[in-house]
Amino acid sequence: MKKQGTIPIPNGVKIAVAVVALAGAGFFVWRSFSHIGPAEDDSFTTMPRYFTCAASHDFTTTSEEMRRVVTANDGIMLCTQCKSPAVEKFKCPKCSKFGDFVGFGQTPPVCPFCNAKFE
Ligand SMILES: [Zn+2]
Ligand SMILES: [Zn+2]
Repeated sequence: MKKQGTIPIPNGVKIAVAVVALAGAGFFVWRSFSHIGPAEDDSFTTMPRYFTCAASHDFTTTSEEMRRVVTANDGIMLCTQCKSPAVEKFKCPKCSKFGDFVGFGQTPPVCPFCNAKFE
């Protein structure tokens, strides 16, 4: 006759499971709270975007403003000064120059002007 049935779970295991569950809940609450304040959408709309136009004007705008201009101009971003078409650039945090993105809108690993490394 096989000896089967409920194996008593030691109390220590139960406590460990409870602690893990609580830690999970705590993490979840912390994540929820960390989202209070400016909504993610707000930080996106106010995010600075950098452009250089066909007449070599560098200008900075926000995602919200960019979306407004692009939507009003058939998907083309226009210079705030001369209304020439503009292309998006990245701004080097070290030398503040505007450089071209590489690949699919990615900041190059090194600034082409001052050689600062971006990580
Ligand atoms: Zn311009
Ligand atoms: Zn630089």
